[in-house]
Amino acid sequence: MGRLRIKRIGVMGGTFDPIHNGHLVTAEEAWKQFNLDQVLFVPSGSPPHKEDRKSLDPESRYLMAVIATAANPHFKVSRMEIDRPGPSYTIDTVHELHRVYGRNTEVFFITGADAILEILTWKEPEKVLREAIFIAATRPGYDLRRLEESLPESEKKRHATDPRVLVMEIPALAISSTDIRKRVKEGRAITYLVPESVAKFIEKSGFYI
Ligand code: NAP
Repeated sequence: MGRLRIKRIGVMGGTFDPIHNGHLVTAEEAWKQFNLDQVLFVPSGSPPHKEDRKSLDPESRYLMAVIATAANPHFKVSRMEIDRPGPSYTIDTVHELHRVYGRNTEVFFITGADAILEILTWKEPEKVLREAIFIAATRPGYDLRRLEESLPESEKKRHATDPRVLVMEIPALAISSTDIRKRVKEGRAITYLVPESVAKFIEKSGFYI
């Protein structure tokens, strides 16, 4: 009898306010580099660390993610975090993914390096690092020492031989959601920064004005 193959599920965690081409390039690159079966985009419901700026409502951010990923056969979008009441903790998402896909699944949590820098302040950081592999997406030239210094002590020891946080440089991450929101507010174009369908949806809905 053959051994059961471990499923490799990539999870793109983020606020996606809005989703842009940098996120799509990141997901596609992770799919290739880490030989993933699927990449699941999981827009956060209520981001735990965002009290300073109110994000666009979860349903609209979810819809933009669906529109942006519809044509890609190995991308999917999950309502998991937007339907879960309370703050969107990554540990709860990783547990839910193991419940849905089974224990025979390796979860690769892909997100921005700046978010991972804060991992010590997340809910149960050591546990989350045991249960998922983290892919920190950065633009080239990012100071990687900052990332290593931000890890829990137990992870720092293991990092040299069996890292649970991997780095992926993505030049397209020069695109940022903050810049897109600013451009829309100033009446500037966002052509080629987001998929055309997303740009039309933003315009039609009057987001970020
Ligand atoms: P953020 O502070 O909005 O983003 C930090 C940086 O990462 C920004 O430059 C952002 O660029 C980039 N980024 C975000 N998601 C990305 C992705 N999937 N791929 C590439 N770059 C990405 O971070 P956030 O969106 O609130 O949080 C990121 C993820 O970490 C979410 O899934 C969130 O739930 C999780 N998180 C969990 C906890 C916890 O469990 N306690 C705490 C904090 C965050 P853009 O603005 O252009 O996207």
